[in-house]
Amino acid sequence: MTAPGKLRVVVIGAGAAGLCAARHIAACPESFAPPVVFEASDRVGGTWVYTEETGQSPDGLPIHSSMYRDLRTNLPKEVMAFPDFPFDPSLPSFLHHSDVLAYLESYADHFCVREHIRFSRLVDAVSPAEGPEGGWDVTTCRAQDRTVQVTEHFDAVIVCSGHYSDPFIPAIPGLETFPGRLLHSHEYRSPEPFAGRTVVLLGAGPSGVDLTLQLAPVAQRVILSHRQPPLPPLPGNVLQAMPVVAVAGDTVQFGDGAEHRADVLILCTGYRYRFPFLAPARLGLRITAHTVTPLYRHLLPPHHPDLFFVGVCQQVCPFPHFHCQLLFCLAVLRGACRLPSAAERQAAAEGALRQHLAAGGAPRHFHQLGRRQWGYCQELARLGGFEPLPPVVRKLYEATQASRRQDVSSYRSLNYRVLSAEEWALVGADPGG
Ligand code: FAD
Repeated sequence: MTAPGKLRVVVIGAGAAGLCAARHIAACPESFAPPVVFEASDRVGGTWVYTEETGQSPDGLPIHSSMYRDLRTNLPKEVMAFPDFPFDPSLPSFLHHSDVLAYLESYADHFCVREHIRFSRLVDAVSPAEGPEGGWDVTTCRAQDRTVQVTEHFDAVIVCSGHYSDPFIPAIPGLETFPGRLLHSHEYRSPEPFAGRTVVLLGAGPSGVDLTLQLAPVAQRVILSHRQPPLPPLPGNVLQAMPVVAVAGDTVQFGDGAEHRADVLILCTGYRYRFPFLAPARLGLRITAHTVTPLYRHLLPPHHPDLFFVGVCQQVCPFPHFHCQLLFCLAVLRGACRLPSAAERQAAAEGALRQHLAAGGAPRHFHQLGRRQWGYCQELARLGGFEPLPPVVRKLYEATQASRRQDVSSYRSLNYRVLSAEEWALVGADPGG
């Protein structure tokens, strides 16, 4: 039984965002009943749970994680951390993915989050409850065999199911006829299988660039196809090319008319938003591969201020960003932060998208906050009445971006130290590179 007046909040997913949600709900027992976290897998960490498997796991669920064996973080641990839980200071700034998983596991232990998680429970359906008390009906099943369906009622839902699992496959004429190996970066694990091959990578986002650097030492040739300005020097056997426009047999055609033969195509083309447990139209939402709209402050459907989507934004400092989003959500639920009316929320959400488009932004970039993330988090903190992120997070994030732009091959060899909320220092290079 829940004590009267205490809200029952359900969290979907026990990755970084879900753990952060549970930690903060549990820290507020005067307002909230203990959180219930449904996690489809049998462990915490979400995307940071590396597995060699691709495709489906033995229990028949699609593999969630897109981690590859040798991944090192693209942000230093000094800015990756949740503001209330630093990484082990003895670690280098740029971490192997296993260190991040260990960090999330110790975060879960430190804040006693595991006791709230129901592992191997897949959320199947989330729908507004019919009764006068409102809230949400959440139906889950056993992840292994999709049996044992149970529906429970909650006052609020926080969706933390991640968005780096469902590959976005671009429509490229002839792609399906490519006779070589065709994969998405979601399925890439290690460079060895590509030794001696000519590999074309489509897309120069973080994964495209990283895979280029991993493959160059073993592949015969790597062609990185993208629409950005040329990247700073890459290894000698890497060619930068225009976007791929067509594939004909084993020949790949590029935007400037160039053609190259390839053994392997790797689509580093990003991911789709997907919430299979929701009926978006019923919630007034439109979900496309790259957008979830309208969401008030990228967080909640205007007419459902008790349903939150944490972590939809991209090009952010993820853990600090989740921290701010969650404290804001909980302030809303506690009544400490009063939202404008539903009509005003709708107008604000639609206005933000209109403004983005009017400024020349592509619809698919709407949730990519980039430089807008700092003002966004600060505003959430002001409205939610909690501590804003310390300025050093932004400074260090921007310093990292600048050093990556300068030398994408070696920026991870730097080590930083946070001196104060305002200051950071470069403390020397990691000799291991
Ligand atoms: P996830 O980690 O994806 O967790 C979602 C959880 O929800 C999973 O455990 C999943 O099993 C569960 N779930 C999903 N659907 C259901 C359902 N229906 N029912 C029950 N459970 C469900 N960030 C950084 O800060 N630094 C980096 O260097 C960095 N590198 C990255 C490299 C790669 C290759 C990728 C893919 C991402 C990287 N990120 C990095 C971003 C990373 O995704 C975020 O840091 C963060 O871990 C995302 O957490 P999340 O909780 O939103 O989602």
